[in-house]
Amino acid sequence: MALPFLVSAADIVTFQACRRRYLYSRKWRALRWLPKLLLDACLRQGIIDLGQGKPLADVISSATTRFYGAASSPGLDLPPGIDPYKLAIDHIACLETLLTTLSRRPLATTIPVKSKVLFSEAEWAFTSYQDANGELHRTITVSDYGEDTLTREMHSWYVVGDICVAKKPMHLHFIEIGQIRDGRRHTPWCKAMEHAFIAKRIKFQNKGAKPLQGNWKSVWLSESSVWKAEDWCDVLFHEDVPDTLMHDVVIEVPSKERVADTLQQILIEARSMQEWEQAVQNPNLVPMTRAACDFPYTCSFVPCCYGPQVDVDVAGLGIYKPRLPTTIVP
Ligand code: SF4
Repeated sequence: MALPFLVSAADIVTFQACRRRYLYSRKWRALRWLPKLLLDACLRQGIIDLGQGKPLADVISSATTRFYGAASSPGLDLPPGIDPYKLAIDHIACLETLLTTLSRRPLATTIPVKSKVLFSEAEWAFTSYQDANGELHRTITVSDYGEDTLTREMHSWYVVGDICVAKKPMHLHFIEIGQIRDGRRHTPWCKAMEHAFIAKRIKFQNKGAKPLQGNWKSVWLSESSVWKAEDWCDVLFHEDVPDTLMHDVVIEVPSKERVADTLQQILIEARSMQEWEQAVQNPNLVPMTRAACDFPYTCSFVPCCYGPQVDVDVAGLGIYKPRLPTTIVP
């Protein structure tokens, strides 16, 4: 008897965005990380480790070592002209302050959720984590938080799929991390305004507030010989920045009818994915979904679809590695 077809929210999102990307993504992984996705991966593991009571220093060390290692080799996936070193050290500073901040706030102990077989045909791989009550948790970093961000996330497969399969509420933990501009990440997690004449005096620019007047200049935690993450976080807390940038929302389980309908939708998509995989050997024979190439971020398979060769030797490009069948993308 065939094993159930392993499917996650990420697979459905990819499948619905672009069939060609889905087919590539089932076999290949890009070697280079987008900085935000690498930050997310390191942060999520750090949160689990903190929740399990590991010492903060060890958690920060593992997270930043992982980020630095991946950013050094194979490197970050960046547009030309961006200094990878500066961007990497900003993200490492963010990891230090985020994990330090989280260690000072109540944090649930969470563990990965065991995958669940649906209708004996599909097996749902969760991307959220579970606390001692079985409730789900998902941490999401966003440039900016608002109604649009919340609605988009609430409607996503990552949230609806996991909730309906587990039949448990989900705690969404949003963290605003600002934008990357001019090759730097602009967020209080790694950037502040420092007074030119008063020693060790920094302020964080409040959202929407007018720029500070007077003798203030930008200071980056990653470049400061004066500031350490712990002291930086003291000031963050003093100015209530964590409460401004961190937002927790609970999403309840929908009605029984809605849950049953969602599980049916998952089954339909899982069957369809399986048929596509069996029918199409070469993803390049599938028409491109061009609207998905650059939104919400640049697709990692752009080099396959926009290079000079139509019949691409993916392995030969040297920027992908084979995907293990069990790899789940959060
Ligand atoms: S580059 Fe565009 S067409 Fe090609 S796989 Fe990605 S989203 Fe699809």
